[in-house]
Amino acid sequence: MKRPMLTIVVPCYNEEDVLPESARQLTAVLQSLIEEQLIAPESKILFVDDGSQDRTWILINKLMDQNRYVTGIKLARNFGHQKALIAGLETAKEKSDCVISIDADLQDDVGVIRDFVLKYLEGYDIVYGVRNKRKTDTAFKRLTAQGFYRLMKWMGVDLVYNHADFRLMSKRALEELSRYKEVNLFLRGVVAQLGFRTAVVYYDRKERFAGTSKYPLKKMIAFAFDGITSFSVVPIRMITLIGFLSFMISSLAGVYIMISKLTGHADSGWTSMMISIWFIGGLLLMSVGLIGEYIGKIYQETKRRPRYSIETDLYSGRAGKSVQATKLAERR
Ligand code: UDP
Ligand code: MG
Repeated sequence: MKRPMLTIVVPCYNEEDVLPESARQLTAVLQSLIEEQLIAPESKILFVDDGSQDRTWILINKLMDQNRYVTGIKLARNFGHQKALIAGLETAKEKSDCVISIDADLQDDVGVIRDFVLKYLEGYDIVYGVRNKRKTDTAFKRLTAQGFYRLMKWMGVDLVYNHADFRLMSKRALEELSRYKEVNLFLRGVVAQLGFRTAVVYYDRKERFAGTSKYPLKKMIAFAFDGITSFSVVPIRMITLIGFLSFMISSLAGVYIMISKLTGHADSGWTSMMISIWFIGGLLLMSVGLIGEYIGKIYQETKRRPRYSIETDLYSGRAGKSVQATKLAERR
């Protein structure tokens, strides 16, 4: 059987501290897989520079000169983890038989990449890396992450529990993924919907090798919110439900007020008036806001803007004319 060409896609945002070490470890893995004749010798590690402000891109270029497995693309600005990943997957897809995505910070165990490949060779199209425990995360991160999975499940979004974006996908699965044209692509949700033969590989998640998390709480909340609103209409249904309930309650209150008025205890009006105005007002604002959120999504989708722009592509050899220039400029 022809050995598959594997590309490992690594999104990097300000990762100068970990990059050399990640490259070293991933190269070691790739080399041993090549020696074992499990993958093709032209397999690659594709670093996606997501508009870093530090020396990430310069390092990628340097690594490329020293290491024949390393290659890179540079996005035109910071697009965020998900989009950097998609950019990498779509670029890698062209030349690869299978693609593995992994974070730059070495939290995911590079040792299980071999298991991913074995599963692929057995005929699986998607192999999920699933964390055993979360003991290396802070209690806060663990709790928020678990809350997120619960909430998503409750909202009807199927996700693989404790699976981040460490996975293998076959060319076939990636082709299918490319047909999902939505701008607000929530990768984990979409991949879970693709179907195909899937397998799971368990591993222990480690601590970040160096540097700090590029996912502050603000980004985490935005990510969760994006996941929910691009996969679920439950929030809108909730609003309808709350609206209906408050309508029922205010009708009952109305009956009560009428009775008090008829029986002559009428001047109790002010408090309840104020409360209901504020209550309904708040409810309305919240509802309009949430519906606006979905309309905003529709607006973004109808524009069909590109999800990302690649400034320099050293992987496909489709590099823009400025490559030589940037290379020179950045090396100084
Ligand atoms: N990342 C990215 N763009 C961003 C933020 C993060 O490409 O805007 C990358 C980052 O370099 C890393 C991965 O996404 O390789 C996951 O980020 P991080 O490890 O900081 O997240 P955490 O593990 O803390 O959730
Ligand atoms: Mg991390």
